[in-house]
Amino acid sequence: MKLHEYDMIIINSSGGKDSLCALWEVCRQAREQKFPFDRIAVSHQDLGDMEWPGTKDLVKQQADLFGLKTYYSKRRTKDGYEENLLEYVERRGKWPSNGQRYCTSDFKRGPGGRVVTALTKALGKCKVLYVFGFRRDESPSRSKKPVLKLNDKLTTKKRTVHDWLPIHHWSNERVWATINTHRLPYHPAYDLGMPRLSCCFCIFSPFDALVVAGKANPHLLDRYCATEKKIGHTFRNGFAINEVKEAIANDYQPETIDDWVM
Ligand code: SF4
Repeated sequence: MKLHEYDMIIINSSGGKDSLCALWEVCRQAREQKFPFDRIAVSHQDLGDMEWPGTKDLVKQQADLFGLKTYYSKRRTKDGYEENLLEYVERRGKWPSNGQRYCTSDFKRGPGGRVVTALTKALGKCKVLYVFGFRRDESPSRSKKPVLKLNDKLTTKKRTVHDWLPIHHWSNERVWATINTHRLPYHPAYDLGMPRLSCCFCIFSPFDALVVAGKANPHLLDRYCATEKKIGHTFRNGFAINEVKEAIANDYQPETIDDWVM
């Protein structure tokens, strides 16, 4: 990638292993091409207490390693209230789903876009590289994503934004080899057996991953169960998250969890 064609690079980070490797790879190329590091920033869409504890600090710790500034954003209502995912679910009376993935659009894409606007305001006419740690092996839909693409939602008359996926071709093995070789700090949830970070209880998580997350975050699991009961809509079609609580109470032992499709 010819980094000097851009005025600014903004790296989206969930704090997870793939974001970490995207950060590492961008900084490697920036060093090689002598791209100024003060024109690279890290953006984290803060999911509050829905995400694994410690994630927010970890994102900063990872960015600090490369001397980069971290910017946080949260979903806000029109009145400026920082509404969390469970409050949003209760207001809508429905969990997000594959067809209505408002958790991603309203809690990640929207707040992330505000960071782009804030960081580019003073630049005038500019070109921005907007980085994601998506990999083609993650899912059929991610495998079809182009490595570089115009982001028409964030592009304006003054600002051109390109989405860039610098580790799209990387394997899971390469991700972990990079983290281990360079001793990069990763979240302890991976050592518990979670293949992914972000929300503790992701709508796409397999049952065993929900059990691992529930054992580590019992109070948050209680809150998810309470929301499920309150709205009378199951966490997933035909599957109640309360079953996770019951399984933990019955000492269910999860098996090794394979990565899941997002
Ligand atoms: S991690 Fe799962 S539940 Fe959370 S925002 Fe992403 S898709 Fe939605």
